[in-house]
Amino acid sequence: MPQRTSRKALHGLVPVEFRDSEIAGRGVFARRAFRAGDVVVSYAPKQRRLPADTDVARVAAGTKLTLLSEGKWVIVPDTSEPGGWLCNHSCAPNAALYSSGEGRIQCIRPIARGEEVTIFYGWVTRNQPGRDPCRCGAAGCRRVINFDVTDADAVCFETRTAEGEALQRRIDEYAEYLCSINQEQVLDTLLSTLAAMRRR
Ligand SMILES: [Zn+2]
Repeated sequence: MPQRTSRKALHGLVPVEFRDSEIAGRGVFARRAFRAGDVVVSYAPKQRRLPADTDVARVAAGTKLTLLSEGKWVIVPDTSEPGGWLCNHSCAPNAALYSSGEGRIQCIRPIARGEEVTIFYGWVTRNQPGRDPCRCGAAGCRRVINFDVTDADAVCFETRTAEGEALQRRIDEYAEYLCSINQEQVLDTLLSTLAAMRRR
């Protein structure tokens, strides 16, 4: 009979640990060094993939932890076990979340042993500025995680008013920053949200 692997031995194989973080709650920490491109950890040890147009998926999408995958699937993590879903946000992340196929966390730059593994949440909200304060501690921390657009923004979006021009400058600043961390898709979401709000 093959010997059962002890829990301790198994733990030694897991390349990350989950423990309290100075950023928020529990975080994910590297137990070894990683190189850019390495898969660090699965988004969740168990994850369900549901067609995005079902009621179950729509209800699940109400939580911040579900992922949209390839435009037509929703990945729902089983959060009874720790996984990459515990990664904290940073304004200067060292990893990113990928949702094509299996949800997973991959390095975008080298990560040293003991370093916290962080990702960029990229949440776009409506009329909730300051909803998610950021305590990532990065040099260029925005102090807030979400990118918010308001009804007033939607009214002046793409107009030649002083408000419209101020909004455009804000969008240009976002664009520059988001491009610098390869998160341009957040800008697309922000612009399509503004466009949708204007049409209402
Ligand atoms: Zn921050």
